[in-house]
Amino acid sequence: MHELSIVASVVDTVTESLEALPDASKGARVLQVRLRVGVLASVVVESLEFCWGIATEGTSLEGSKLVVKTIPVVMHCAVCDADVKLEGVQSFRCPRCDEPCSDLLQGRELEIESFEIDDEAGLEKAGNEEIGVSG
Ligand SMILES: [Zn+2]
Repeated sequence: MHELSIVASVVDTVTESLEALPDASKGARVLQVRLRVGVLASVVVESLEFCWGIATEGTSLEGSKLVVKTIPVVMHCAVCDADVKLEGVQSFRCPRCDEPCSDLLQGRELEIESFEIDDEAGLEKAGNEEIGVSG
């Protein structure tokens, strides 16, 4: 399952980030992981959430919550000279002038926005790390 390999990569990335923390934070548990997923990333959010419980079992992330933020498609329309948000992914035409757009600005994201650990330091940020999954 595609989604299972994605969540496995997320678990790996967060685990590596935990290991890189100062000694004081060793053994901290992860409370919440936030992902940014573009609507063009071909990912089923419900499947991610379903796989999360399986992939985190027996790791520092066990029992944590997965929060998925869906990123809409934004393109730059050369005709309007404006960034336009597309309502759907069926048509890649500018909603203002109906010209086709090809300059995709966002919508393919698949990255960890941040994660939160149970630690004195509070919120630990993992700066928008790309998740190493192809396809
Ligand atoms: Zn336009």
